[in-house]
Order: sequence, then structure tokens, then C-alpha cells
Amino acid sequence: MEKPPKLLIVEDEVHLAEGLKDNFEFEGFAVTVARDGNEGLALAERDTPDLILLDVMLPGMDGLTVCRTLRSRGMRMPILMVTARSQEQDIIEGLEQGADDYVTKPFSIRQLTARVKAHLRRTAQAAPLETAQLGDISLDFRNFVATRGGEPLALTHREFEILRYFLKHRGETVTREQLLEHVWGITHYPLTRTVDNHIAKLRQKIEDDAAEPKWIVTVHRGGYKLLG
Ligand code: CA
Repeated sequence: MEKPPKLLIVEDEVHLAEGLKDNFEFEGFAVTVARDGNEGLALAERDTPDLILLDVMLPGMDGLTVCRTLRSRGMRMPILMVTARSQEQDIIEGLEQGADDYVTKPFSIRQLTARVKAHLRRTAQAAPLETAQLGDISLDFRNFVATRGGEPLALTHREFEILRYFLKHRGETVTREQLLEHVWGITHYPLTRTVDNHIAKLRQKIEDDAAEPKWIVTVHRGGYKLLG
């Protein structure tokens, strides 16, 4: 039998946390609950869960900080932010900090369960593309290490995933919506500016001249295309 997927729930509302724990245990998950941000961070590092449900509003360290800290330490599991507010700014900030998706309280537990499972499926089916070369840029997707002309190139996990997606669709026009769906795992919110911001940063890193890109070019009214 396969090992049960490990889920970490970081939630300070006791009843909600217990309800979620019961639900996901019933669904066959091994569930750990943290009551605040610091405990969440500690348990994430100790247990390396397969997915984290992370409340934004937490006592002590808030969820956005927890998310950013985990990503800065190289933790790459899917993180679903749970936000009490539906303000676009919170959602954008969560995604910028490296969250993969979000749910807004109050949420349907069945829908949340379905989305958690979808993210885990996506992780499991993640492309076996392990290494790639773009001119003098070498990419190692197993260890998330990149070099350019032999020198270390600092790419974020998201940037690796963007490049991985482009490489799988080399020479094809890729829309912002496709990138949101396949790199961010989001189909239900029009955050296309987030894509543009990430592409702009990525170009600064991989292009000789970000204003005249030769790898990731803009397709007018289409999206982007990886050449080469
Ligand atoms: Ca809370």
C-alpha cells in the first residue's frame, strides 16, 4: 500500500483545524496541525509534508511570512493559502510569496478537498524533464540548480517551473492563462499581471538584454514563446 500523503494544517481556529483534520484523515491523509506560524514553520521543516494548508491570519508569524520563509529555505511542496478576506491584494501577495493556490473563508470542505487532491496529482505527474540547456544556461530541475556561462544563476522555484513549462512547449505560443494554470495551478482568478511580473524578472536573469529578449519573446495578444 502506498504511504498516505502528509498534510500540514497551520490554523489557529481550533474548531476549523479539528474539522479539517477529521476530514482529511477520513480522506486518507496523515495530518499534523500547527496552531501558529512559528509552529507551522517548525513542523514543515521537521515533517516535510506533501502539502500545506496555511492560514494567512495567524498569531505570531503570519502565513505570508511562513510561506516566504519556507520557499527561501528551498521547501517546494504545494502551499494553499487560507484567507479570511477576498481582497485581491492578499491573494496577489500570497502568490508572490510562493503560494500555489488560495481558498477564501468560508469555503466548502468538499471543494477544498478536491483542490488539495488536484495539487497532489499535479505534483505526482510533474514532468520528468530533469535537465535542459538554453544557450550557455544550464538548468537542473532535479536539484533546482542553474548556471549561466558556468557561473551560478539564482532562479526561484517558480522561475524553474516557468522555464520547465516553456521548455515543454518550446516554439509554441504560451498564454498567460496557461502559465497560471500549469505553473501556479490557478484557473479561477485573472492574475495575468503576476505572470508578466515573473516573466520580467526572469528575463533580467536569463537574457543578455531584457528589453530585447532572445529566449522568452512576447507574442502580441498571445502571450509568450520560448525560442531556441
Ligand atoms: Ca486565523
